[in-house]
Amino acid sequence: MSRIKIHDKYFETSIPHEEIVAAIKRVAADINKDYAGKRPILLGVLNGCFMFAAELMRNLEIECEISFVKLSSYQGTTTTGVIREVLGLTENLAGRDVIIVEDIVDTGLTMQRMMESLGTRGPASVQIASLFVKPARLQVPVDVKYGVFTIPDRFIVGYGLDYDGLGRNLQDVYDVVED
Ligand code: 5GP
Repeated sequence: MSRIKIHDKYFETSIPHEEIVAAIKRVAADINKDYAGKRPILLGVLNGCFMFAAELMRNLEIECEISFVKLSSYQGTTTTGVIREVLGLTENLAGRDVIIVEDIVDTGLTMQRMMESLGTRGPASVQIASLFVKPARLQVPVDVKYGVFTIPDRFIVGYGLDYDGLGRNLQDVYDVVED
């Protein structure tokens, strides 16, 4: 196990790269089966999804497309909290089978917002593929059909996920070391 420091915090390896890649392959196999004869569009949610999206895509054997969106970090508030806008969604999704590709589902609010936004665009179906899911943190019900790893409530970095901008380039996934 290796220990690294990012900014002010220490992290220790929790999931090695080979294990991540093998698990993504298994999920890609499920998608290949479920979408046989269809042409889904993967919709990656930046920034964190880029490594997962690349590995997932290169293991898909069906016809498929990919596009990316970003959620604004802040767009006014309501009584229910911060409203985030989905940016960069230029594709026509009417009648399309959409697979949202996310790095991690934590409170579920990002995925709830994505589902709301996609719902108005008339897709044939929408499913979620997420590299990580933290069930203990969910605040709203989110159905992650293609979850790769279920993890405990601990902050992680690596394989696309950052701590304050750093750590996305790490090949393994690391857990924060609580002091
Ligand atoms: P949600 O809207 O589900 O609460 O948040 C999802 C977003 O929060 C993820 O896309 C990710 O950017 C961030 N996030 C949640 N948990 C973690 C974590 O453990 N590590 C990192 N690096 N980001 C996280």
